[in-house]
Amino acid sequence: MASLQSIKHWDDETDVLIAGYGVAGCAAAIEAHDSDSAADILIVEKMPAERAGGNGRVSGQSLLISHNAEALYRYQKAMSSTNPPPDDMLREWARQMAGLEAYIEARIAEAGNTELVKGSGWSSGEAVYEFPEFGAEDAVAYNAFVKPIPGGVWITMRTCVEKRPRIRHAFESPLVDLVQDPDTLEVFGAIVETRGVRRAIRARRGVIVAVGGYEADMDMQRNYYGLAEAWPLGTPANTGDGVRILQKAGAELWHMRNFGQSGGIWPGIKVPDYPTIFMRRHFWQTFSWIEIGADDQRFYNEGAELYYTHYKERHHGHWVDTPHWRVGPVHMLFDENVRQHNCLVTHAMGWNTVVEGYEWSDDNSVEVGKGWIVKADTIEALAQQLGRDPARVGAAVARYNEACARGADADFGRPAWSLQPLATPPFYAVRIDPAIVCTSGGAKRNILSQVLDPRGNAIARLHEAGELGSMISHLYQNGSYLTEAMISGRAAGRSAVTLPAWQAAQAA
Ligand SMILES: Cc1cc2nc3c(=O)[nH]c(=O)nc-3n(C[C@H](O)[C@H](O)[C@H](O)COP(=O)(O)OP(=O)(O)OC[C@H]3O[C@@H](n4cnc5c(N)ncnc54)[C@H](O)[C@@H]3O)c2cc1C
Repeated sequence: MASLQSIKHWDDETDVLIAGYGVAGCAAAIEAHDSDSAADILIVEKMPAERAGGNGRVSGQSLLISHNAEALYRYQKAMSSTNPPPDDMLREWARQMAGLEAYIEARIAEAGNTELVKGSGWSSGEAVYEFPEFGAEDAVAYNAFVKPIPGGVWITMRTCVEKRPRIRHAFESPLVDLVQDPDTLEVFGAIVETRGVRRAIRARRGVIVAVGGYEADMDMQRNYYGLAEAWPLGTPANTGDGVRILQKAGAELWHMRNFGQSGGIWPGIKVPDYPTIFMRRHFWQTFSWIEIGADDQRFYNEGAELYYTHYKERHHGHWVDTPHWRVGPVHMLFDENVRQHNCLVTHAMGWNTVVEGYEWSDDNSVEVGKGWIVKADTIEALAQQLGRDPARVGAAVARYNEACARGADADFGRPAWSLQPLATPPFYAVRIDPAIVCTSGGAKRNILSQVLDPRGNAIARLHEAGELGSMISHLYQNGSYLTEAMISGRAAGRSAVTLPAWQAAQAA
């Protein structure tokens, strides 16, 4: 923290300072603005304007809509059983969730450039029930997504912010520190760095930190989650700044190591040209492909619809992360049929396709040409290029092809309809790496989005919202993160703007 005494002069001032121009930051700004007709609000964002918007901008846009607070409370409680959030927080969150549909509809009507569509975009039904045994069907009324895809939810929120002239922005201006009383920890402002220059900004009523998680910081992935190498699907800007700043500010941390970081560890394709990872496609036209781990053997049922459970699979009565992260390096092996008929990546979400604008070729031929996908005439030659044992890889493919001939996969129970042999040369391989949707670790907070210290007391004038310090602690139901970003952002905006302004004499 920077102490108030170290500030010689304030470079700018505002009533409420919000760090992060994602869905949570937007929700906070809109709420603060609408709760006080005189308040000045400033959003500071690390990225330039054209790269702002965080994970929400490149997300699947799926929103969880619930009409039953009691059922939603019970469902979320069951999904959080290994690390339950406080019961009163859970109940109030569920109550607000059951009323969120009207808020979302109002924002879309106000923005005027987006459209709410019932359905997940993922399944033929209107809802994805991730964990029916915990009560999903009563809790989830439906999933919704917002057109245009990509970006509909964030475009809606950003447009609503832009319609409010009392909300100011500063891009390329990351939050780097908070200004506090070293004894009481009360927050008086923030230090923001704009193009290499550190500026002190007085926040008369409060600061809201909504800067996303730590998915783009490999070191934090290793230390908090234990993943040796995991890459973000979303923005490269979410490097854990909020965790570090709030830790320094005296906050208690929570949810730093959720199962699969709740959003799951997805199969991704990392190429040297981009800092983030491509999301592998989910729905296949042809199925003559397998994956092998470090020991050149298959290790799971590649035909399982794991995207419906955020890459959790059930073992011994428990939902656990899929094994990719612990059996690597993993290669996906496929034949010419797969190459021709399945673009290997998803275009609708992920930073590389949505923001960087990379258009992966439909038949993967460009990426074969770039060397991102390895090609050979035989499986053994392919294995050699990968630095793997040709005999072992050949045996793994032969064993899988025999299972296809029998119509039954005794090893992993891959469904019969997906048992197509790797039979049409040439053959291909691409490395599959762990891809992270988001992390929910951060400062512990309450339902007002106030940041808590290790004794459970709110740190005065300090709030947090969104994925950073999310309430989600274990299993995850589709559409919960974006809606939680709205709920926690709104709570933070409301709570901060209603505080009386601090006076210089009070802080002296
Ligand atoms: C591929 C993908 C698919 C997803 N699909 C869904 C889905 O379908 N449904 C769902 O509910 N959730 C989904 N999620 C999760 C969801 O997008 C996030 O949980 C949500 O966007 C979090 O919102 P946020 O505002 O907290 O963070 P973000 O949206 O990440 O925004 C954080 C902002 O803070 C900025 N920032 C970072 N550091 C600083 C700093 N020091 N100072 C100032 N600004 C900073 C970033 O640039 C960014 O603009 C998905 C995520 C990904 C990556």
